[in-house]
Amino acid sequence: MTDQDSNPQSRVLDMLHGRARKITKGESLAPPIVNAAKYALPGAPDHPFPYGRFDNPGWQAVEDAIGALEGAPVVSFPSGMAAVTAALMALAKPGARLLLPSDGYYTVRVLIDDFLAQHGIETVRIPTREMDSYDLSGFDIIWLETPSNPGLDVCDIEAICTRAHAAGAKVCVDNTTATPLLQDVLALGADMSVASDTKALAGHSDVLFGHVAAKDEALIDRVRQWRKLSGSTPGPAEAYLAYRGLMTLELRLERMCANADALARLFEGHSAVDAVRYPGLTSDPSHALAQKQMTRPGFVVGVTLADETAAERFITDCPAIFAATSFGGIQTSGERRARWGDAVPASYVRLSAGCEPTAALISAVQTTLDTL
Ligand SMILES: *Cc1c(COP(=O)(O)O)cnc(C)c1O
Repeated sequence: MTDQDSNPQSRVLDMLHGRARKITKGESLAPPIVNAAKYALPGAPDHPFPYGRFDNPGWQAVEDAIGALEGAPVVSFPSGMAAVTAALMALAKPGARLLLPSDGYYTVRVLIDDFLAQHGIETVRIPTREMDSYDLSGFDIIWLETPSNPGLDVCDIEAICTRAHAAGAKVCVDNTTATPLLQDVLALGADMSVASDTKALAGHSDVLFGHVAAKDEALIDRVRQWRKLSGSTPGPAEAYLAYRGLMTLELRLERMCANADALARLFEGHSAVDAVRYPGLTSDPSHALAQKQMTRPGFVVGVTLADETAAERFITDCPAIFAATSFGGIQTSGERRARWGDAVPASYVRLSAGCEPTAALISAVQTTLDTL
């Protein structure tokens, strides 16, 4: 990789123009949706497209485009959890010890408890804010999710990778909340980057998707082998939707991060608000580290209101907030994460800033806050 390739802006340029540089006269700029179980395969089975479960031209298009942002080979999956499973299956060996954030994505913890634990994988869970000081010796896999979801705590990826590698462990970062544009986890030393592209990367709330990226060829080959053998394969139409959404990721993130910043500042000065979490605020405990390792502090804001009733009213009454789980879409959305059992106050609302015009969003949110 050249220096120019590692510059985030030139990566976006490569992501946008990668397909254009490959195609020949008469081919469509948009990748075709190839509905294929069978491909023509006479004679020796030595073609890259022997059968639908092995590869698809639409997977290659979206993997090349995400790969331009990751600066590494990518394997795509039909959901974030399919990508998480592939990463764990590629890394885990019998009896492996796994360090996991206790405040990360809930389903990852349940997957490990319900299925990996019975194969002798031993898990230790600690909050993200303790990762930086935790002794990593004796661990095989360090799983990170930073900023953590929904609490928005941040840990030092680069320092943890250095300590993990010295202890003989591999590091996998779930980079869903940041995307490779806001946080280049592979450049910070992670062995693997995994993400739910259902969120900001595809970004339009209309498709489930996921990916794994790794610079180590043997590791990414193992992930690809997992997909081929387990059959955890994306549909061709879904791959197209993820590709199409990705093309505007950088543009959407600009507005989403600006809106998150404006929302955080509104919350910080409003009497209906008990507490606000946003790594972009200088008062936030995550601020210094986020500034060190992220290009921008993201689009997720945590706000604690007076009580559960006020929080529910805020979400349902505000005409600029879509009441839903998940995040990273065009429309600002919010939910009380305590309803899923996350370790946050009952009145804590996780807001995902969308792409609305900033002044209109802030005005609508402020009007609702004033009634609480
Ligand atoms: C949503 C999410 C996942 C799971 O992704 P799906 O696409 O819903 O399967 C994994 N990790 C994080 C951090 C997420 O937010």
